[in-house]
Amino acid sequence: MAVSQQVFLRDAMRRLNLTRDVFAARIGVKRRALDTWLLPEGSLESRAMPEVVQRFVTEIVENEALLSKYAQSAQSGPLRDRIATGGKHQLLSVDQFTRETVEELCSLADIMQPIARRQKVSRVLEGAVLGNLFFEASTRTRVSFGSAFCRLGGSVCDTTGFTFSSMAKGESIYDTSRVMSGYVDAMVIRHPEQGSVAEFARATNIPVVNGGDGAGEHPSQALLDLYTISTEFSRLGKLLDGAHIALVGDLKYGRTVHSLIKLLGMYRGLKFTLIAPPGLEMPEHIVEQVAKQGKHVIEQTTSLEKGLPGVDVIYATRVQKERFEEGQDGSFTADFQVNKAIIDRCCGPDVIVMHPLPRDSREGAHDLSVDLNHDPRLAIFRQADNGIPVRMAIFAVLLGVETLVQHSMRDVTWDPPSHIGPEDAVFHGMY
Ligand code: ASP
Repeated sequence: MAVSQQVFLRDAMRRLNLTRDVFAARIGVKRRALDTWLLPEGSLESRAMPEVVQRFVTEIVENEALLSKYAQSAQSGPLRDRIATGGKHQLLSVDQFTRETVEELCSLADIMQPIARRQKVSRVLEGAVLGNLFFEASTRTRVSFGSAFCRLGGSVCDTTGFTFSSMAKGESIYDTSRVMSGYVDAMVIRHPEQGSVAEFARATNIPVVNGGDGAGEHPSQALLDLYTISTEFSRLGKLLDGAHIALVGDLKYGRTVHSLIKLLGMYRGLKFTLIAPPGLEMPEHIVEQVAKQGKHVIEQTTSLEKGLPGVDVIYATRVQKERFEEGQDGSFTADFQVNKAIIDRCCGPDVIVMHPLPRDSREGAHDLSVDLNHDPRLAIFRQADNGIPVRMAIFAVLLGVETLVQHSMRDVTWDPPSHIGPEDAVFHGMY
């Protein structure tokens, strides 16, 4: 098999759009056996899938004409051409994707997992240099993009804040972008003004990734969020079609939810419950765009108690105070906090709780509570970890090396810990 059996099976389930239970029944095996084949190779309980099963699955996928659909999309060119914007290999908005291209990117992220989990190394981007230009605060996005590029063999040059860049001397976006393009092979840009990253992108032909433009978009975050939901759902035996998703918090200025809801809107028959304090509701034009995408139910409320019952996913966000107008007031009140008590009261044992992070842990912030840290329903660290394989997939696609990755992998020479975090759930990294 050209890919690992885990990647092969997950890809087949994604293409057939089947839950684990239904897929196991379809190929005539016990769910437990399927689960062990789906574990990463090398893990204690992992078992090799019999060759006959592999042949049967391949046949089913072929018979359902899904492989031919895949071949068709492969014929229509590399993924980077199909998501290109203005003829350039840049990632500025989730609007560049379709369900099919998003799923291709997720499959590629699966292929990246052994590298992200420090079992394998690859050098496909050896010699390439990434420019990380962050004109606004960032921890996760900046470091994970940098780490993703390094894990593919490239190197990273950074600049952070206006103070230490020539923009403080009045340099324009055009000049900055053009000059940087002479130094690096790809750029990730975060900037406080909506639309500014697109302006950077117009001044260059090298790949540009939007790392967050004001209250506009954060496409790579939305892609890793979608990837997280789909991997968590795969473990729980759920499908994205028909899921009930609650987006909670500052939906007005939160760019992650702006991108995520549009991406989720590409699936079928979702129910969205938008829970925001008064004044921080999701912009109307985004709600309208999602309503046009498919037959979704979209409800809006200011109450967690009313909005949370029955949801499959709670996606909490932080108050984006840095984007407030002068004099604008607004913190979450205590009854707005997503915490263990309200989740126990309103949700089932298989709800997943997400947050793009950072969560504001200061007293009185009433952001996502830390009292869920031991609770396996809290997916925030699995979600943050997924930033690496998804961002590796983005770079591999934009730089056109995605077909080289699989064969470039070698074993790591060092010994990473089996669990990255002391409180990681047993299935963290194992689905
Ligand atoms: N890190 C995310 C962003 O940059 C979320 C946040 O800051 O609240 O948009």
